[in-house]
Amino acid sequence: MNPAMRCWYTCVRGCEGRYAVDQVIYQCPQCGGLLNVEHDVEALQAKTADKWKQLFLSRASDLVSPESSGVWSKGEWVLPSIDRVNVVSLGEGRTPLLSVPRLAQHVGVGELWIKQCGTTHTGSFKDLGMTVLVSQVKQMIADGSAICAIVCASTGDTSAALAAYGAHAGIPTVILLPEGKISHAQLAQPLANGAIVLELNTDFDGCMRIVEQVSDDPQFYLANSKNSLRIEGQKTLAIEIVEQLAWNPPDWIVIPCGNLGNVSALGKGLAMMKQLGLIDRFPRILAAQAESANPLYRSFLTGLETMEPQQAAPTLASAIRIGNPVSYERAVKVLRELNGVVGQASEQELVDASVNADLHGLYTCPQTGVALACLQKATRADIIHRTDRAVVIATAHGLKFTEFKTLHDDAIPGVSTTRANRPIPMAADIRVIRDHLRREIDRMT
Ligand SMILES: *Cc1c(COP(=O)(O)O)cnc(C)c1O
Ligand SMILES: [Zn+2]
Repeated sequence: MNPAMRCWYTCVRGCEGRYAVDQVIYQCPQCGGLLNVEHDVEALQAKTADKWKQLFLSRASDLVSPESSGVWSKGEWVLPSIDRVNVVSLGEGRTPLLSVPRLAQHVGVGELWIKQCGTTHTGSFKDLGMTVLVSQVKQMIADGSAICAIVCASTGDTSAALAAYGAHAGIPTVILLPEGKISHAQLAQPLANGAIVLELNTDFDGCMRIVEQVSDDPQFYLANSKNSLRIEGQKTLAIEIVEQLAWNPPDWIVIPCGNLGNVSALGKGLAMMKQLGLIDRFPRILAAQAESANPLYRSFLTGLETMEPQQAAPTLASAIRIGNPVSYERAVKVLRELNGVVGQASEQELVDASVNADLHGLYTCPQTGVALACLQKATRADIIHRTDRAVVIATAHGLKFTEFKTLHDDAIPGVSTTRANRPIPMAADIRVIRDHLRREIDRMT
């Protein structure tokens, strides 16, 4: 390995050995554990914390170069080895952090912020990791690698991101989906971007097992979050949140969790900021799971010692329907370091939280519903306090989950809402309309 290398892979379980990031490798050759991208922190420490903050801020006024992206504005911390010409960016990141004081009051926290990760090219935070992975592959192909396609298994959002970034870079993509288990909008995205889409008659975990076999052939590069390049991009989410809060970390970050890549990334971003002196304390983490797919929650109940893989049952939060999370070990480390807790929400609880948030002006995806429901339960249990500042990661745009919103039509079996809102058929007669509006507004105020 080149001694001047500024980042490299190491084993998450601590085996010796460093591997170059331009190698096709996803696991430690000694123990089979996942890999972690490690940075030359000494080199990064050549800049003071204030200098980093200034540099990141100065790039916020950059409108078109790769550094205008939320991820590449932090490029030195992400993938310092990339040639700028190989950066494949679709303007990812730089998503709004919304203050929602009325919702905060309703939930019972001092401050509530919603990190709108869905306001990005393919509508979910998966863009943050995919820009890094596809850029690295473009670099490897430019350097003579024989990679012919990038492959992934997906609960929907990963495939949308991979297909878009692949198409943008001109690299073929292959997507394995569990038949009938993702939303129409999510299936439409990779098809539109020209990916090879295979629907398999299994669940996500089954697709995962097949994609691992496909990527045994090094010409098919694996894009699942087992691949730690994605974590490097996703960790900028933590940096961006804290930057938006003027480098004053919140007390809590609430995040919906499936394969546990994103919570690991969040922890990594926070750790790096502390190591480089940009923050001096950590927020706590509330990892939120759906009751139907709760291996992390169950593990938490017994002290995070082991994880029992499960057959994940159907949930409206289809993007986190995962029974055997690949980044479990990474996530446990983060939960321990950040004094984290794990919560779970039932289908009805996620519906109630989502409907309520929408009535405060949001348009939540079901996964964000899970996070909001767990936040509500944690405030009731006095784990999160009345004075705390909390950030909820809204992982995807509600527009990707239009079927979910048919709950207002009572069209989803097993859940209901007392606050359903339906269109009112009415004659095109101004007197009838006026009467009706008067009555309705009186009722509302
Ligand atoms: C992927 C995804 C998650 C879960 O992230 P993990 O890294 O798998 O834990 C949550 N919400 C949405 C919308 C997603 O696409
Ligand atoms: Zn190892």
